Amino acid sequence: MSASNELDKVTTNLVVSMVYELKVNNEVIDSCDDSDPLQFIQGLGHIIPGLEREIEGMTVGESKHVLVKAADGYGEFDPEQIVEMSKDEFPEEFTLEPDMEVTFEDEDGTEMTAFVEEINLDTVTFNFNHPLAGDDLEFEVKITGLRPATAEELEHGHVHLGEHGHHDD
Ligand SMILES: [Zn+2]
Repeated sequence: MSASNELDKVTTNLVVSMVYELKVNNEVIDSCDDSDPLQFIQGLGHIIPGLEREIEGMTVGESKHVLVKAADGYGEFDPEQIVEMSKDEFPEEFTLEPDMEVTFEDEDGTEMTAFVEEINLDTVTFNFNHPLAGDDLEFEVKITGLRPATAEELEHGHVHLGEHGHHDD
């Protein structure tokens, strides 16, 4: 008789394989299945807080319906993240289109993603909110695998996929 094995349940520093379906307003907007499960290290904030908390302790093969409020998901919609910029700030050959995704880099090299909200005569309005900010999220999740993270994965803070899956970042 063995004591309960800690690898049986989702907990910090285990690599979790999970399939899921995500609905917003009853519409499926994202999903993955067994052919390409989401893999991440539990407890490191790789997935949204409301989901990470709810899957803690789940076992392989277990499914769960999880409701995540916006604040525990991609955050509330922040009107201050709507920013108007002069078109002069962009190179002439740079064509801006509605809904286009644009990546900005600040002085520290930190990348920020925004979407073109509105194109005006002389200005462009960008939305720096996450596309799912302000949305309540409805997940159907299933845990499909668990294994301990390797020392190297823990050091890097991310999963190395497959046998030769190492990458240098
Ligand atoms: Zn790595």
